[in-house]
Order: sequence, then C-alpha cells, then structure tokens
Amino acid sequence: MPNISHARKLRLKKRIVFAAFLFPLLITAGRAENGRRHTNVPPSPLSKYSFHPTPSLRPVLPRVVSHGLSSEKTIALTFDACSTHAPSRYDERITEVLVKTHTPATIFLGGKWMEDEPAQTKYLSALPFIELENHTFYHPHLTKISNEQIREELRRTQEAMYTLIGRQPTLFRPPYGEYDKRVETIAAALGLTTVEYSLASGDPDPHFSKEVLIKYVTTMARNGSIIVMHINGRGWHTAEALPEIIARLRARGFTFVTVKDLIHSEEKTAHRK
Ligand SMILES: [Zn+2]
Repeated sequence: MPNISHARKLRLKKRIVFAAFLFPLLITAGRAENGRRHTNVPPSPLSKYSFHPTPSLRPVLPRVVSHGLSSEKTIALTFDACSTHAPSRYDERITEVLVKTHTPATIFLGGKWMEDEPAQTKYLSALPFIELENHTFYHPHLTKISNEQIREELRRTQEAMYTLIGRQPTLFRPPYGEYDKRVETIAAALGLTTVEYSLASGDPDPHFSKEVLIKYVTTMARNGSIIVMHINGRGWHTAEALPEIIARLRARGFTFVTVKDLIHSEEKTAHRK
C-alpha cells in the first residue's frame, strides 16, 4: 500500500500548489482579461489631466432629438469638434463669426479634443450664447462597442469637461450619426439626451465650395432644423460660408437658438397640449 499513499500525497501536494499559487494566478489573469475586454478607453498618451469624477446627473427618458418644432421659425446651428487620431485642430474663425454676429450655437466637444485644446475649451465656455455638449471621448463607432465601453466614452468626456470648466453636458451627439436603442438608453441613464440633426451641411466634403455650402444650407433649412457643421477643421469652407448662411437665414425671419432652447420650447408646447 505504500504506493497508494504516495500517490495520495502527490495529489494532495498538487492541490496545495494549485490552491496556493495557481488559483490566485488564474484569478488575476481572469481579471486582467476582463479589464482588457472592458477597458473602455485606452489610456491616452496625450493625457495631461487626471479627471475629476462628475456628480451623477438624473437619468432622462431615452430619446433622440433631431429637430425642433416645425411651427416655430427657429434653427439650431451645431458644430462638432470630433476627436481624431491626428492632433486636434480648432477653426477659431468659426467662433469669431459666431461672436461677431451674436449667434447662439451648440458645440459638441470630443473628450480628447478638450484634452488637446484646454485653453479653447475654457474660452468657449466663457461665451454665454454657446452651449458645450458631449461628443464622446475618442469618437468611436458606438454601435460596435460594448455597453461598458459606451458608458466609459460618455463618462470620460463628462469628466474632461467638468475638470476643465466645472460643468458637465446634458446632451450628447453620437459620432458618424450612428446610434441605436442601446446607445440611446445608456446615454439616458447617465442623464444625457441623444441629439442628432435634420440637416447635414455636407461641410466635411472638400468639394463643397463656399458657394455650394451657402446655397445648400440656406435652401434646405426649415423651421426647427438642427444643422450640423464642424469646428475642428473637418469643415473645409465652413468658416467662409458661415457669415452669409447666418445673414440669409436671418433675413428670411429665422432666429438662431441653442439645441437646449429648441428642446425647451418643444417641451413647453407639449405641456400646453
Ligand atoms: Zn464627430
């Protein structure tokens, strides 16, 4: 029987080794794997800030706003500052036009864009007629990433803005106009209303000259339009076309408002009904 007892001893030894060394190792490896899978956003090599956690916002009803009331002659000009892989750019000529013409607008800022442009973010936040909102951190295709990654993209952008200017967005625009029920619901749980647009200006197309852009936007604009353009250099002729777009639409009796104003007047009307 000495053989059996020896085998038993060996088995016991193996169990002890497993319990003492291998099991914790497996757990750690599992955690690391989990962490990788859910690592929402890769650490940014450009990260200059340790972000402050934001106070939680009250959840909102999931919905997508893509236009305002068709009964009111109001238009919301919106500009996206998309985070790109290349160093971010900022077309300050656009802000100059908005300031000069006292035109309210909503700007959706990428988290990484803010990280690259802290001074501009602070400058924009000081303009009372400009609304700053969330355009995700790294500009991913949201419908192709996990729930946790979506949450992290939104959360980190909230934190970036909160760290820089002490307030956080309540609106969010998905990159590439890509969203689904899942994206909308996750955003709503974080207190963010998803905002799309009813009129894509076409300004990322280099073939859209200043003249074409003016003609297209002013012809297509309607009551309650949410128009999307770019402020990060993706709009080729946006800054040149903007003064004329604003002037022509105002001459036709339109008033420019922020997206939040557009939503408020819609809610007020719904309340009255
Ligand atoms: Zn974008």
